[in-house]
Amino acid sequence: MPAIVRLMPRDPEEVLHSVFGHAGFRGLQEEVVRHVTAGGDALVVMPTGGGKSLCYQLPALCRAGVGIVVSPLIALMRDQVESLRQNGVRAAALNSGVALPEIRQAERDLRAGNLELLYVAPERALGEGFHQLLADARVSLFAVDEAHCVSQWGHDFRPEYLQLGALIDRYPGVPRLALTATADGPTRKDIVERLGLGRARQFVAGFDRPNIRYRVLPKREPYDRLLKFIKAEHAGDAGIVYCMTRAKVEDVASRLAADGIPALPYHAGLDRAVRDANQDRFDKEEGIVVVATIAFGMGIDKPDVRFVAHLDLPKSLEAYYQETGRAGRDGLPAQAWMAYGVSDAVHQRQMIEASDAPEAQKRIERRKLDHLLGYCETTRCRRQVLLEYFGDRCEPCGNCDTCLEPQESFDGTEAAQKALSCAYRTGERFGAAHLIDVLRGSAGDKILALGHDQVSTYGIGKDLDKEAWKAVYRQLVAMGLLVVDEHGGLKLGEDCRPVLKGERRVMLRREAVARPARQRGADKGGADKGGIKAASDSGLDETGSSLFKALRAHRLALARAQGVPPYVVFHDATLIAIAARRPRSTDELAAVPGIGAAKLARYGAGVLEIVRQASAA
Ligand code: ADP
Ligand code: ZN
Repeated sequence: MPAIVRLMPRDPEEVLHSVFGHAGFRGLQEEVVRHVTAGGDALVVMPTGGGKSLCYQLPALCRAGVGIVVSPLIALMRDQVESLRQNGVRAAALNSGVALPEIRQAERDLRAGNLELLYVAPERALGEGFHQLLADARVSLFAVDEAHCVSQWGHDFRPEYLQLGALIDRYPGVPRLALTATADGPTRKDIVERLGLGRARQFVAGFDRPNIRYRVLPKREPYDRLLKFIKAEHAGDAGIVYCMTRAKVEDVASRLAADGIPALPYHAGLDRAVRDANQDRFDKEEGIVVVATIAFGMGIDKPDVRFVAHLDLPKSLEAYYQETGRAGRDGLPAQAWMAYGVSDAVHQRQMIEASDAPEAQKRIERRKLDHLLGYCETTRCRRQVLLEYFGDRCEPCGNCDTCLEPQESFDGTEAAQKALSCAYRTGERFGAAHLIDVLRGSAGDKILALGHDQVSTYGIGKDLDKEAWKAVYRQLVAMGLLVVDEHGGLKLGEDCRPVLKGERRVMLRREAVARPARQRGADKGGADKGGIKAASDSGLDETGSSLFKALRAHRLALARAQGVPPYVVFHDATLIAIAARRPRSTDELAAVPGIGAAKLARYGAGVLEIVRQASAA
């Protein structure tokens, strides 16, 4: 291909249509793109799935020269380069995962001015060799992806990132962008300082992910509930199930597999080859469920993850938001599902206390845990609670469990008093399970051996069943009225005196006490108001649905032949639009979002043929 000399910048909107096939910009994209195309620097903070990539890809295509993108995630680079090539963009990557001949080719293309985008791992970008390579090239912009890696405040600090500022300083006049999904103030400040973004305009998008439905339920037979949830609402969908430990990951993965769900484990204790193979299958096949520890996630670019489930409490709301954010990047309906119980809170608390972190750090982590528990127990719209935590706001969303089935709260002061005084009377060192046995007047060995049948709270809680008491304890912990000690015992919190003295009323979720035995509507499964049916083809009629299936099979064959994930060929949203519109001509097909000129030329005829066959049938 000849080197192109572009004198006039191309118009971003035209490139958005013709190359990417997108109908329009999303959110802040247009502002960012126009600003950077005109030569400005930018700091872009957008949630996962917000569409950060286009913020540097489009300006790079519109300006003369090659856009250099620094990214720490090899798998993500590979997908992005593949997606760009599918769209007819000349893109390449330099990282340790790329074979030497390909690297040499990329270097030749770069020198010949034949690349539009070059992705580089930070350690490669820093070498003198890379600088020499760029010496002959014209650079259109520098983009630093996952820019929070430059900050020690962030959760993912990478020392190599510290030197990137010096690297890009060697190219004065070239626009620079930093992109991240991490919004907090100290991290942002670090990014600006360390990457020399003092003159950059800051673009901070709202953090809402409206297509994700949030749902939290009490941990009662959590595995069975998860299975039911997947079968009823996500049959055939790709999803992620997070568990705290490797052992649990293995256990849940094999149980799901035995129950007919194509589930694969992923954790840091597995052989690298197994891990990579499982991630690869998740990427390239349809409908795989990965059961994983938090080791799984960074670098997942898969846009059609339909659900993220937590069988254990995540570490913080930040972690929760990041993990659940991996669902529904394509904007189609997706769900975040979590089962949690008081034992989760106890466990997390013990981990905090047992760590060697300095006291100040522990205090921060305790506070984070409190916020997380507050979220779990809220009777308000979950999205409001989440967004407020991140300094954003919204109206009650209508797309979370508390909005869909409003939670009544009621005066639970008496139950709270009983629960608190039982902890007090037994010496503030037992966990919820034992305290519940005392309240319910159990005659178990442990009770008798400790003489707890003699305390004044013995047997005063027979009016509620075990599950109801668990819910009471869970909520008292979430409110800080009980505090978990380092051995998992429950101590009275600082604020509990007024409650015990009857000066402060305690409101509890009605669900917790009044309906202990019944399940809540949303988990009866099915496509009633609480559930979404297999989200991927929602909205299609029967003919549309079978056409969608045929298109999916066609896509899988195309992807397999090239060894790439199906979503780099077409997104689900594109296939759904084709199935709904049933285009008959190239022009009609070109109007479908997600089909640019390159894909039209490459796949158009095949797709039209599938549509024709379906219409003839
Ligand atoms: P981020 O990097 O912010 O997580 P991506 O850049 O990967 O998000 O974009 C998320 C998904 O949204 C991608 O699959 C992308 O193709 C799609 N997308 C981004 N911008 C648009 C747009 N303007 N129109 C349609 N789809 C878009
Ligand atoms: Zn809501």
